[in-house]
Amino acid sequence: MFTGKMIFLLGTACLLLFAAAPAPFVPLFADKENAISSSVAEHFLSPLQQTDTSSKRPWKSKKCAVAITYDDAINEHLDNAVPVLDSLGLKATFYITAYSPACAKRLKEWRGVAARGHELGNHTLFHPCMGNMPGREWVSKERDMTTYTVQRMVDEIRMTNIFLEAIDGKTTRTFAFTCGDMKVGDSSFMNGLKNDFVAARAVRNEMHTIDQVDLYNLDCYVVNNNTADEMIEWVKKATETNSLLVILFHGVGGGNALNASLPAHRQLLRYLKQHENEIWVAPVREVAEYIKKYQQKK
Ligand SMILES: [Zn+2]
Repeated sequence: MFTGKMIFLLGTACLLLFAAAPAPFVPLFADKENAISSSVAEHFLSPLQQTDTSSKRPWKSKKCAVAITYDDAINEHLDNAVPVLDSLGLKATFYITAYSPACAKRLKEWRGVAARGHELGNHTLFHPCMGNMPGREWVSKERDMTTYTVQRMVDEIRMTNIFLEAIDGKTTRTFAFTCGDMKVGDSSFMNGLKNDFVAARAVRNEMHTIDQVDLYNLDCYVVNNNTADEMIEWVKKATETNSLLVILFHGVGGGNALNASLPAHRQLLRYLKQHENEIWVAPVREVAEYIKKYQQKK
């Protein structure tokens, strides 16, 4: 039989257990909207978990990630874009078409670009595109992807990796689909190349949170004579939505009809630099490796 005193003691013990036991576990299972304060939650998480579970700063403790990319290896990248990037200490990705004249004639300069921390990405050997699409009259017979086999595409892309490794000594890098074309016939040629690349960039104007990014179909915003204000709005949207924003430049102060004026390009980069406390700016390779680790833990 329980005496009144025993019941009192048992009751007190149960209350203490109820009060003490669940507390350390609640933050781990609580929804992010839960009323438990983030400071309490963070107390029970490792530093890595704190970064990954913080819905507001999932990008190396920053609100968003921005990867700046330049396609096609054109002279204006070396002449106009690189000096601004280097003066601000920002690192970008240059998607190199190996056969382009500005690549062949300026190899030493591209080597220097890589040595200063920029990524030389793979944008194929000859820049083939599907010539049977509207507005693709400029695609030559020799560079028409409709005449390619998947194996030829894979071989040329792998040859470009060998070429780029000879320039920068790197064995990991990312790829950018030429014209955004992802298939030869009905077959995705990237399926056989996933071990050759950390990620592959497409051309669709979208941005995603770290858990939603498709590494082999990275979306990006294509610059087409946009003002600095318009491009800065993209960055603000990425910051507000905790997303990855990939920006794609072709011409910078000329060099391609898809152009950015020198002032607009400079102003965007300055904005990114000024907001480094909340924006992680890095080459695609670095951002993609971070996303891959994050998604593998899920
Ligand atoms: Zn291109």
